[in-house]
Amino acid sequence: MRGLLLRPQSMTVIHSAEFAKEKQSLEGSVEVAALARLADQRADQAGVVSWRLVGGVDRYQRPYLALTLKGELNLVCQRCLKPLAWSLKGESVLTQFVDEESLDDAENIDEDLEGMLIEPELDVQGLVEDEVLLSLPLAPRHVACGDEDEAVRAAAKPNPFAVLAGLKTRKAE
Ligand SMILES: [Zn+2]
Repeated sequence: MRGLLLRPQSMTVIHSAEFAKEKQSLEGSVEVAALARLADQRADQAGVVSWRLVGGVDRYQRPYLALTLKGELNLVCQRCLKPLAWSLKGESVLTQFVDEESLDDAENIDEDLEGMLIEPELDVQGLVEDEVLLSLPLAPRHVACGDEDEAVRAAAKPNPFAVLAGLKTRKAE
């Protein structure tokens, strides 16, 4: 609790490894407006991202944090530059290591591994913001620009045809 006294009350700080070993969990929500690093990608400040953080220890006795994200936000369509409603859904598992060397070794062995260094004062909202940024599409586009119904439907439920349409468009450019 030492560090918490010096910080604004809205900030939640955890010891990442202790949180994991004690199998703690936390959940909350953050307004899109509060995610400053999303400023370039979002169309407006509307929307809320809810998150759930669960700690645990894997079969190699490594502490990890599992983060689930869910939310609605408005991105900017990269074709017509108009808002594009986006349903955010993300799940990531961050395996924790004591130093860069062991993190690098583990990532070399397992390409899918997402690693982080043990952080005695981890700002949870900062972590949520990192993962939201990572889960955003690189070039969000309406399936059919100008067709609002189609855009909302496509954002709510990405389907293989939408992905295919996106690929075709990219190739044509
Ligand atoms: Zn568009």
